[in-house]
Amino acid sequence: MDSVRFQAIKAVSAAEEKKISGYGEKRITTMFGSNVFSGRTIREYLSDEAYKSLMNSAKSGSRVDRRMADQVAAGMKAWAEERGVTHFTHWFQPLTGTTAEKHDSFFTIKSDGTAIELFDGDALIQQEPDASSFPNGGIRATFEARGYTAWDPSSPAFIMEAGSGKTLCIPTIFIAYNGESLDYKAPLLKSLAALDKAAVDVCHYFDKNVGKVTATLGWEQEYFVIDEGLANARPDLMMCGRTLLGHGPAKGQQLEDHYFGSIPERVYAFMQDFEQESYKLGIPLRTRHNEVAPSQFECAPIFEECNIAVDHNTLLMDVMNKVAKRHKLKALLHEKPFAGVNGSGKHNNWSLATDTGVNLLSPGKTPRTNLMFLTFFVNTIKAVHDYDDLLRGAIASANNDHRLGANEAPPAIISVYIGKYLSDVLDEVESRVKEKFSEQDEVILKLDIHKQIPELLMDNTDRNRTSPFAFTGNKFEFRAVGSSANCASPMVVLNTIMTETLKQFKKDVDALIEKGEKKEIAVLQVLRNYITTSKRIRFEGDNYSEEWAEEAKRRGLNNFKTTPEALDAFVTEKGKQVFYDNNIYSKRELEARHEIMLEDYVKKVQIEARLIGYLSTNHVLPAAVNYQNTLIENVRGLKEIGIDKKGYKAQLNLIEVISGHIQNLNDNVEAMLEARKKANEIADFHERALKYCHEVKPYFDKIRYHADKLELVVDDKLWPLPKYRELLFMR
Ligand code: ADP
Ligand code: MG
Repeated sequence: MDSVRFQAIKAVSAAEEKKISGYGEKRITTMFGSNVFSGRTIREYLSDEAYKSLMNSAKSGSRVDRRMADQVAAGMKAWAEERGVTHFTHWFQPLTGTTAEKHDSFFTIKSDGTAIELFDGDALIQQEPDASSFPNGGIRATFEARGYTAWDPSSPAFIMEAGSGKTLCIPTIFIAYNGESLDYKAPLLKSLAALDKAAVDVCHYFDKNVGKVTATLGWEQEYFVIDEGLANARPDLMMCGRTLLGHGPAKGQQLEDHYFGSIPERVYAFMQDFEQESYKLGIPLRTRHNEVAPSQFECAPIFEECNIAVDHNTLLMDVMNKVAKRHKLKALLHEKPFAGVNGSGKHNNWSLATDTGVNLLSPGKTPRTNLMFLTFFVNTIKAVHDYDDLLRGAIASANNDHRLGANEAPPAIISVYIGKYLSDVLDEVESRVKEKFSEQDEVILKLDIHKQIPELLMDNTDRNRTSPFAFTGNKFEFRAVGSSANCASPMVVLNTIMTETLKQFKKDVDALIEKGEKKEIAVLQVLRNYITTSKRIRFEGDNYSEEWAEEAKRRGLNNFKTTPEALDAFVTEKGKQVFYDNNIYSKRELEARHEIMLEDYVKKVQIEARLIGYLSTNHVLPAAVNYQNTLIENVRGLKEIGIDKKGYKAQLNLIEVISGHIQNLNDNVEAMLEARKKANEIADFHERALKYCHEVKPYFDKIRYHADKLELVVDDKLWPLPKYRELLFMR
C-alpha cells in the first residue's frame, strides 16, 4: 500500500478545483453585513428608545441599562430567528490566541413545563462559561474558578454559519470573578478609552470642536495555503503549524515568480469563498494578492475603528480555517511554516481619527492643522522611542522569533522610518528654534507639508519596506507583528504609550503657557525637545543589514532577540508604571499576563521538541535504516558474484554516510531529551522559558541538519514525509 505521503500526492493530482459559484450575480454591497446586527437592521428591530440607548453605549462604551438590554435582546433574537438561528454564544478572545464560543440554545422550559424560546437581557449582558482551563496566570485559583463574559456593545453581534448551523454571536470581554481581565479585548477597550481622553485634550489646543478621538486599524494578513491531504501527512504541520524538518526544494522563491503572479485556481476559489463569508460578517476585505514565497498570499481590508478591526481580524482567521476545509486546503497562519522561504506577518496600519472627520496623522492644508499633525506625529515617534521595549514585547512569541531578523522581516530592533521629506521638516523645526521661539519661527508651520507628502509617497523610493515602524503618508505601519497574533496585543501597547506621551506633552505645554508663552510657540518648543530626545529611534536605512545592528548598538537601542528576554519589558518598573498609571492593567493582571506569555512560549517549544524527536525516531530513522539495508543487500550481492571492492565504492560510502547521520540524529535527540528534563524541573516560569530558549531549542537545528541530509540521500520512495516541493508547489 502507498504511504500516506503518496496517497496524498495522488489525491492532489485528482483534486478538482472546488466548484463554487464565484461571485456570479452577487454584488458585494448586497452581501455586505447581511449577517451583522448593525446599521439599518438595528433600526428595524428596535424601538426608538432601545435604538438610541444601544447607539449611545456603542459610542461611549457605557452600559446599556437592564430594561433596554431586554429590548435589545428581543430584537436580536427576532432578527436571528428569522435567519434560522437556534443558538447563541458569547464570543470572546481568551489568551490562548484563538476565539472561544460556548453555544447555548434559545430553547428553554418554563416551570410549568412549557417549552419556549428565550433570550433576555441577562443572557445578552453576562454569561458564565465554564472556563477553568483558559490561561489565567494564577488569577483564578481553583476555588474561584469562575470566569465571566460581558457584552461589548461597541462591537456588533453577528451570525456565524458553520455547515448548516447558524449561531448568534455576541462579542464580549472575558474577566475573572473579581473583574480582572483574562482576554485581549478588555485591556484593548481600556487603552482606547484612555487614548481618546488624552488625544482629545491635546486636540483642544487646536480645535475645541473635537469631542472624540478613535484609533483606527487596517491590518494586512499574510498566510500560506497548501493541500490539506499533504498537510495531514506531516505531523509537524498538524500539531505545530510549521514544518520542523524538510530540505529546501531545488527551486524556492529565488525566481520571485510567485509575487503578484496570477493566483492559482484552487486557491482563487478558496479566496472568493472566504471573502464572501467575510463580507456577510461585515469584514470589509479589499485586496488580495500573491506574496513573495511560493504558496504565500495576503489580504487586507479597509481600515476600521481599532476594536472592530481587531474583532474582524480574529474572525477572519477563524473563517479562513473553516472555509479552507471545504476546499480540502489548509491555511497556514503560522509566522514561519517553512524554513528557507519568507515567513508571514500582519502589518498593523494605525492612525487616529477625530469625530470632526480629521485623520490626525494626515498632514493638514493650513498651518494650524499642520501643527496638529506635527504634534501627533512627533508624539508617536516619542512614544515609540520611550517604550520601544514594550512594542517589542507586544509582538514577542515563539512563532515570531523564527521570523524577526531573518532577512525577510524587520529585525528585533524597533526603529521608526519617516522618509526624507518629514525628516527634513523635523530637522528644520529642531534647527530653527535654538533657544526660544520667535514669532518668525511660525514660518515653519507654513511649510506646505500637505502638498509635498503625497507626492513623495507616490514615489516608491521614499518608502522603506524594511522598517518595523514606518510612516506611510497618513498612518504608521507596525510591520513586525506576527501573522497569527491577535492585533490587540500590539494595539494595547501602542495606544497606552501614546496616551502616556500625550499626557506628558500636555503637561509640558501647559507649563510653558503658564509662564506666559504663546500657545503655538509653546507647542513648537515642546515638539522641538521631543524631536531631539527621540532622534536615535529614527532610522532611514536598510533595517535588514548587519551595519544597522551595529549602528543600533552604538545608539544604545534595544535588541531583544528572543521571546523570554523581550517579555521582560512588561515587568520593568517603567513598563509596569505606564500600564498602572493609565489603568490598563493592575499589578496582578500584568504579572499574570507576563506569566501566561512565558508559559505559552514554553509550551510551544516543548511541543515542537516532542514532535521533532518523534519525527526523527519514528519517521526519519526507519526510512534511513530501510534504505541502508537495501544498500547492504546490494553490496552483499555484488560481492557474492565476485565484483571487486572498487565496484561498490559508492554504496559503501553511502552506507557510512547514512550511519553517521543516524548516529548524530540519535545523539542529538537524546541530548535534547535530557535538556528538556532539566528545564522541566525549574519552577520559575522565567527561568524555565530561558532554559527552553537557550538549551532545548538549539537542538532543533542540529537535529534538522542531519534529518535533512538524510532526506537528500534516502530513496525518495521510502521517504514518509511530504517534501517541501510537494507542500509548496502541489495544489
Ligand atoms: P499600502 O500599504 O500599499 O500603502 P494602503 O495605503 O491602501 O496600502 O493601506 C494599507 C492598509 O492600511 C489598508 O488595510 C488600509 O485600510 C490601511 N489604512 C489606510 N489608511 C488608514 C488609516 N488612516 N488608519 C488605519 N489604517 C489605514
Ligand atoms: Mg503595507
